[in-house]
Amino acid sequence: MDLGIKGKKGLVCAASKGLGRACAMALAREGVDLVITARGREALEATAAEIRAATGAMVIAVTGDIATPEGRAAALAACAEPDILVNNAGGPKPGDFREWTRDDWLSALDANMLAPIELIKATLDSMIAKKFGRIVNITSGAVKAPIDVLGLSNGARAGLTGFVAGLARKTVAHNVTINNLLPGFFETDRQRDTMAAMAKQKGISAEDMKLERVRHIPAGRIGDPAEFGDACAYLCSAQSGFVTGQNFLLDGGAYPGTF
Ligand code: NAP
Repeated sequence: MDLGIKGKKGLVCAASKGLGRACAMALAREGVDLVITARGREALEATAAEIRAATGAMVIAVTGDIATPEGRAAALAACAEPDILVNNAGGPKPGDFREWTRDDWLSALDANMLAPIELIKATLDSMIAKKFGRIVNITSGAVKAPIDVLGLSNGARAGLTGFVAGLARKTVAHNVTINNLLPGFFETDRQRDTMAAMAKQKGISAEDMKLERVRHIPAGRIGDPAEFGDACAYLCSAQSGFVTGQNFLLDGGAYPGTF
């Protein structure tokens, strides 16, 4: 299916690795010209080169921390009026809420709630004027089923989800949609690191830890970031203009509820 977004401009945040990278690759395959961001220059430049080589799309790499005003200003300087915005940033640290300080909470809110809201604020009106806009926020399965050690993530992402739920109903009449993609368990650097830490804690191998996690996924496997990227590309497509304010869980059936 031609997704009808060839030649559109996309800003994909936190995209040198993992799910952000997969979203960027999927959009580039559809002919979207991209600005991608991350903090580390080397990995970001390498990813930009790989996406260019694989797709022929124009890809500009902008280094910076998207959780800061400076990082967002740099991204927007390279892509002031994107047609497509994919909001993403690293997730907050795990732990016990008794140990988290006010600064820990503010960092989580900055990265996983306020940065996406600021970027939506900066780009939404130009999308409305163009009568086309697609905004996708990468959040987490923790929004639907909280993960106890990820309280910072549960809280910050719930705040973003609540805000988006209201705004998404106001923008859709202008063909500007806002949706959230909720990853379950995907094979990325972050998950590999988390799993290695959990394996160490339990005194088992990383491979055994992975098998233990997979046992709880009805699909019987971990998600491939490319699958996530393809879902993102659909939500950014010309055909998805009737879909807004939704929370799409990609978790191989792990969430057990009817809705
Ligand atoms: P990942 O493999 O660690 O990749 C994270 C990417 O984001 C890297 O390119 C990283 O590059 C960039 N990044 C992180 N913080 C940034 C910041 N403040 N500003 C700019 N770039 C930043 O992580 P992932 O697994 O793709 O996860 C992406 C998001 O999905 C995270 O919020 C994570 O919590 C959430 N999530 C993932 C899963 C999963 O199964 N993978 C499950 C639930 C939720 P630099 O470090 O160089 O900046």
